[in-house]
Amino acid sequence: MPGRLVGKNAIITGAAGGIGLETTIRMLREGASVLMADISRIALEKALAKVETLVLSPAGKIQIVVCDVTKEREVEDLVAKAEPWGGVDIMFNNAGIMHPKDGDAQECPDNIWDLTFDINVKGVWYGSKHAVNSLRKNKKTRASIINTASMVAMVGSATPQVAYTASKGAVLALTRELAIVHAKEGFRFNSLCPAPLNTPMLQDFLGEDAAKRYRREVHFPSGRFGEAIEQAQAAVFLASDESSFVNATDFLVDGGLTKAYVTAE
Ligand code: NAD
Repeated sequence: MPGRLVGKNAIITGAAGGIGLETTIRMLREGASVLMADISRIALEKALAKVETLVLSPAGKIQIVVCDVTKEREVEDLVAKAEPWGGVDIMFNNAGIMHPKDGDAQECPDNIWDLTFDINVKGVWYGSKHAVNSLRKNKKTRASIINTASMVAMVGSATPQVAYTASKGAVLALTRELAIVHAKEGFRFNSLCPAPLNTPMLQDFLGEDAAKRYRREVHFPSGRFGEAIEQAQAAVFLASDESSFVNATDFLVDGGLTKAYVTAE
């Protein structure tokens, strides 16, 4: 069976953990070449070792790149790393944070608001911008840019995290507009909107606090958090030509959470 991403070059930010790492593994298995980007070299090296044990003899190439998505020059250099491969085809702007000091309107400190927006929004903008530059330079007529938002951009959370929620709303708006602007060039932009997951980002925050955990878990119709692999599978679909007419969507992968009023017993 030929892979669904054979011949495509993917860049994934936040690739050292969670969704980014799972997506790296799946995209490699589907035949893509992958640039794994993250702010942490140590985490990237550990992640690469895991990828190499799980994906034996991939058809595509794999390379790690240390990149802070808040620094435009670093994002530009990251995208340039795909040029010798023929330029980027799939840009997965996935790096993001939810800061423990985030809170309600009064609690959220100014610097945490700015940090959250720098990573979650500006990082996505820089990734989108430099992907478009490369796509135009290489005269590509087909590409997929996937920006990780969150289902909290669509529903209010009673456990406040105002900077995070607002930043993810900005990702939806930015992505939608880019999708419309670039549609005639063949560049698709979609937002991936995960529900709370079993990844370090959320699970480290919840820790052993059963009450905190229950407040979230109870809202899932299925009674469980999502898994990073379930987001990765959606990202592969959005990256592949199978989704060629899927554009400008807020692509929810939430187990039905945002559609539930009273959950089943
Ligand atoms: P994660 O913490 O496991 O992975 C995020 C990665 O981003 C980390 O490897 C981290 O080092 C990297 N990163 C942080 N700042 C960076 C920067 N400035 N430059 C480059 N890389 C940086 O989290 P995850 O759950 O895999 O989250 C991935 C995305 O999914 C994020 O955008 C997050 O907001 C979103 N999301 C997560 C959940 C969840 O419950 N985990 C839910 C909805 C949305």
